[in-house]
Amino acid sequence: MDRLIYLDHAATTPMREDAVAAMLPFLTERFANPSGSHRFARDARRAVDEARDAVAAVIGCRPGEVVFTGCGTEADNAAITGAVARRGGRAVCTAAEHHAVLHAVERTGGTVVAVDAAGRVDLDALDATFGDDVAVVSVMAVNNEVGSITDLAAVRDLIRHRTPLALLHTDAVQAASWLDLRAVWPHVDLLSLSAHKFGGPKGVGVLAVREGVVLDPLIVGGGQERDRRSGTHNVGGIVALATALVATDAERDAEVPRITELRDRLVAGLVAGVPGLRETVAPADKVAGSAHVLIEGIESESLLYLLDEAGVCASAASACASGAMDPSHVLAAMGIDRRWAAGSLRLTLGRTTSAADVDDAVAAITSAVATLRERTAASVR
Ligand code: PLP
Repeated sequence: MDRLIYLDHAATTPMREDAVAAMLPFLTERFANPSGSHRFARDARRAVDEARDAVAAVIGCRPGEVVFTGCGTEADNAAITGAVARRGGRAVCTAAEHHAVLHAVERTGGTVVAVDAAGRVDLDALDATFGDDVAVVSVMAVNNEVGSITDLAAVRDLIRHRTPLALLHTDAVQAASWLDLRAVWPHVDLLSLSAHKFGGPKGVGVLAVREGVVLDPLIVGGGQERDRRSGTHNVGGIVALATALVATDAERDAEVPRITELRDRLVAGLVAGVPGLRETVAPADKVAGSAHVLIEGIESESLLYLLDEAGVCASAASACASGAMDPSHVLAAMGIDRRWAAGSLRLTLGRTTSAADVDDAVAAITSAVATLRERTAASVR
């Protein structure tokens, strides 16, 4: 195939042209350090302030509640580590969190709770872990592998009744393209974002910190971001993040139905064309861009190899460690049998996805699975 079909938007998104254009002057003539006191520095500081106002408007928080970070991973680490360091006690998260949360919670000796069959927090399991020693609970808004959406209002309710002093953090890194963050923020105290998941650059993120919540900073130094995150501001990255977030927010109402239709067409095509294929999470429980499927008797790694050759960029929810395929921790936590989990395929759509992409991907995947099955059949003959 002479054109690439990019169906890996959960891994990263292509930068939006408007975000690139907004960023460029800060890499060239407007390069000043915003912490300086001359007019040149003031210009850069104004750009950061304007970006902060714009980001706050999309989250529905106050500008002073926006802390710019070096990435989504840093925002997650800062929330967990910062809360535990400041307050003592325990962090709690779900077994389906991104490793940026999971490993941070594990490192502080925290508690990991079960999820349901769709990868969403199991409220009874969460309830069972609660005690007065909980400093922070971290529950992702949208799962990065299977796309399921968590009801954060229900989590907040439970916390309010059971452990009211605990903070609620949400990793909303996969949410910004698909959910109105203004409907997420009221339920949480801490919220992480990453620019490269919504058309911004890699290496810049946000931790929204509700007013009155104090965390020990993860990174200390020059005292930027009101002592909450030291380090010279990535001015261009911050400006591009804000531009991409504002544009994504403005386009969301039109994009969600368009992408939902394409996603449903993709899954319907695969279900019709590939025997032994099932959708991992029901469409009603997940975001528009997610089309995670499981294919019986297939090794994702071999499938991804053939798809790559055919020009289809996708991913699997499994990592290859020491030559052995480890099923993803998310699928394992969801209780998916290893045999099915080995054949997982994560197809994630986004702003650049077209109907032609979807139709060509269906054809390529159908053909690749048939090839793999023929090879398996030939090898056992
Ligand atoms: N959280 C989730 C849910 C993600 O999908 C990712 C990116 O893969 C991250 C955190 C980490 O973000 P970043 O790549 O900006 O460190």
